[in-house]
Amino acid sequence: MYEHIAAQFKKEAKEIFRNFEESNLELEVIPRKQKPLMTLGYSAQARPRAIGDMLLCHPRKVKLYLSQESMRYDEPKFKSLLRHEVLHLGYPRHDWAFRSLAQEKGIPLTGSTVEGGSVKVQIKQGARYVTVKTYESTEKWVVDRANEYAKHLARTNRGTKVRVS
Ligand SMILES: [Zn+2]
Repeated sequence: MYEHIAAQFKKEAKEIFRNFEESNLELEVIPRKQKPLMTLGYSAQARPRAIGDMLLCHPRKVKLYLSQESMRYDEPKFKSLLRHEVLHLGYPRHDWAFRSLAQEKGIPLTGSTVEGGSVKVQIKQGARYVTVKTYESTEKWVVDRANEYAKHLARTNRGTKVRVS
């Protein structure tokens, strides 16, 4: 059902990494109900590594998780998100090497650059939720951090309802 997305991912990978070999990548596309918008999953042993636009090694078995929200995006926005994830084939983190290649290729540094989205940690006050912290990105590591903060709040303020939205 999502073969066309997998095919598009591989096409973008060829454009971004000059030595990308389609046959080296087993890509599974997995839809998700919630954020993050798009994220790449591979085993901890797989070591993505690259120099510039040259892949030194990349994970063979990769899962591409897509939120329902991202699938409603128009083509240019969707493509930007996809290209960002392609970069993670060679660069697991948003370090300087990731950022310099992203800039060179015109790829957004975070999902929020594309969608203007954010993650909010909220606590219940009376009948409604009030935002106590906003993260200006919806990338996985940011959502993880927001969840950790929410857990911390829930632990230190017993009886308070905390949510991440
Ligand atoms: Zn990223």
